[in-house]
Amino acid sequence: RPRILSGMQPTHDSLHLGNYLGAQVNWVAMQEEFDAFFCVVDQHALTVSPDPAQMRQRTRVTAAQYLAGGIDPEKSTVFVQSHVPEHSQLAWVLSCITGFGEAARMTQFKDKSSKRGSEATNVGLFTYPILMAADILLYDATAVPVGEDQRQHLELTRDLAGRFNTRYGDTFVIPEPHIPSETAKIMSLADPLAKMSKSADNQSGNLMMLDEPKANIKKIKAAVTDTDNEVRWAPETKPGIANLLRIHAALSGEPVADIVARFEGPNRYGALKGEVADLVVEVQAPFKARVEELLADPGELDAILAKGADRAREVAGGVLARAYDAVGFLPAR
Ligand code: ATP
Ligand code: MG
Repeated sequence: RPRILSGMQPTHDSLHLGNYLGAQVNWVAMQEEFDAFFCVVDQHALTVSPDPAQMRQRTRVTAAQYLAGGIDPEKSTVFVQSHVPEHSQLAWVLSCITGFGEAARMTQFKDKSSKRGSEATNVGLFTYPILMAADILLYDATAVPVGEDQRQHLELTRDLAGRFNTRYGDTFVIPEPHIPSETAKIMSLADPLAKMSKSADNQSGNLMMLDEPKANIKKIKAAVTDTDNEVRWAPETKPGIANLLRIHAALSGEPVADIVARFEGPNRYGALKGEVADLVVEVQAPFKARVEELLADPGELDAILAKGADRAREVAGGVLARAYDAVGFLPAR
């Protein structure tokens, strides 16, 4: 079976609805036909330096959310990035074929570093996309299910794989991005021009999967819209309403045009928000309950991660050996 790989950073105590709709829903669908690898990318999360106890806790919570969202460890390999040292090993090799200017053009780096200032920006944040390329290339992944914000990083991965193959001979599979069309970018409810983001300073616009339902209902009721008070599909001029419509359509399966038709007339924002709130709670409540169940016995979860790491290392070890050989590293024995 062809392989896929994807991951999320343990940068928060909970995933948000954007992670779920933009990435996880696709993961669950794709695990049926692909040999799927889902990784908790703790090394990436280290770029924002959380405290150690929090890192450990969030790594488990993130893995638990993979399972709660429908990843089946019997079908897919679920593991923690730092358990598989090949990721950092390949990242070094790839960093030596990445141009400095090429890395400096990554818009996510520019955004995140400009928010932090150059003193507080670490080199890990800069080389992050190279580690991400290693994550993907180590598994010969043919497709990578991610949200729109990862498109540029995926493009870099493809460039690096192609460059390596040209320079050293065919070694890596060139992966295709697999980005959903409607839910690739779920926006913040507080600022519909910015995406929901785990590490955003302002969390008031994020619908967190593990928050109390009433906290999310409150955020939906307070969602920024506009003053014309008409429910219409106009992403350019009505980004807040477009975001709510997209969330509704993704969760209900109802086409946007049908939803809009049901909310014809003045002053229907409250009613639309009410339906969105019900739909969000409907997925979130069982998700949260399942995570709590999994965390109650972390032994089972840790066993799944240990097994996943073994399987991941089997594949990653083989691909790393190919790359080491290609660049001419002398075999250890
Ligand atoms: P951080 O702010 O720490 O970078 P994040 O919310 O961007 O967190 P990641 O762990 O970086 O989450 O990304 C996990 C997956 O979720 C990726 O596939 C990414 O493309 C996707 N994703 C992140 N934010 C959104 C969003 N707002 N809408 C849709 N998909 C998203
Ligand atoms: Mg991110």
